[in-house]
Amino acid sequence: MIALQGITRHFQLGEQPVCALEQINLTITSGEYIAVMGPSGSGKSTLLNVLGLLDRPDSGHYLLDGTDTAQLGERELATLRSRRIGFVFQSFHLVPRLSARENIELPLMLSGMAPALRRQRVDALLEGLALSNRAGHKPAELSGGQRQRVAIGRAMAMSPALLLADEPTGNLDSHSGEEVMALLETLNRQQGITLIVVTHDERLGARAGRQIRMNDGRIVQDRSAP
Ligand code: ADP
Ligand code: MG
Repeated sequence: MIALQGITRHFQLGEQPVCALEQINLTITSGEYIAVMGPSGSGKSTLLNVLGLLDRPDSGHYLLDGTDTAQLGERELATLRSRRIGFVFQSFHLVPRLSARENIELPLMLSGMAPALRRQRVDALLEGLALSNRAGHKPAELSGGQRQRVAIGRAMAMSPALLLADEPTGNLDSHSGEEVMALLETLNRQQGITLIVVTHDERLGARAGRQIRMNDGRIVQDRSAP
């Protein structure tokens, strides 16, 4: 599904160049559940942003379902991103003035889906997320765990094949974090969605079928469960 070949991403910070990603080679098969771990600043978010087509590498190739993404223009990338990839962030990134329902509905509206179909789809998502009774609430009126579930709903709205989560439990208490992880894992198991989660938490990371460890922009360990 995914092949990264010789990917590098450098940032210029004042005088100092920072190597956020250095010669990354990585193959990911459809349906995998991968935890990305490593110290702060090791390049985990940069890797996720590249995988999510939110950022372009400086060099190397990123093949997504056989397409070399370097060949695509901004508009084609945006289309691919909206159809194939869902993103969940540590700090939720919900639109504050929209309700839970409207936040989840947003990508469907942008895709031009008809209102009746949209409503059905959002109802089903809210139900699956156990958020039906919170549909009209704004993010500020929801708990952290509920906000992250809304964000997962928004990420899942377009039925992506790839779900990327950057420290999704980082702002949650352990109970809500557990719920959110269980939800992500259910999506992986039941819908076959490819799940890549960045986490600091060794215990959470150990639940994934494959652990990738990063340090200084490089993959220093790539281990699959037997
Ligand atoms: P992690 O998610 O593992 O904490 P990041 O991928 O966020 O690490 O960052 C990797 C390195 O790249 C860090 O040294 C960070 O400071 C640098 N970096 C990331 N994004 C930017 C940016 N937009 N501009 C400058 N430096 C950046
Ligand atoms: Mg990060």
